[in-house]
Amino acid sequence: MSFLPFPEYKFPELRDITGDFLIEKGVELLMLDLDNTVAPYGAETPSEPVLRWAESVRAAGVGLYIISNSRKEGRVKAFAQALGVPYILRAKKPSPRKPREAMRALNVKPENAVLAGDQIYTDVLSAKLAGVTPILVKPIKLSNPLLALRYVLEAPFRRLRSR
Ligand SMILES: [Mg+2]
Repeated sequence: MSFLPFPEYKFPELRDITGDFLIEKGVELLMLDLDNTVAPYGAETPSEPVLRWAESVRAAGVGLYIISNSRKEGRVKAFAQALGVPYILRAKKPSPRKPREAMRALNVKPENAVLAGDQIYTDVLSAKLAGVTPILVKPIKLSNPLLALRYVLEAPFRRLRSR
């Protein structure tokens, strides 16, 4: 696996990552970025469709784990509780440390884990460094101009895949 931050898979949104797809790929653990992946910045609770999606993934036998760079404990915790999944905040992605911690806690090997997120330089890179398969989803909402600029800078990586 190359360490360049190319996503292995790309999906328009989180809900397109189905339990069937994950099982077919031998995935036991799906680690999730929170902001702009599970919900837009500022949202306080997951939407009904996202709740139903999380339930279906779990029913397929795949574990979920929120790995967020956010510092807002109350908010991250609220999402994790609503979805019924464990969480880590202040993850400092692209550091692979917290994804590794989550895998250790659940006794899942990197080759049986994926990390889904909307950003190349945090989520995809963190996945690569942790040895897990990165899945890139389109950001839910680009509300602020700095964030929009960041996505422009990431464009060359978004267009490509590692294979
Ligand atoms: Mg994000």
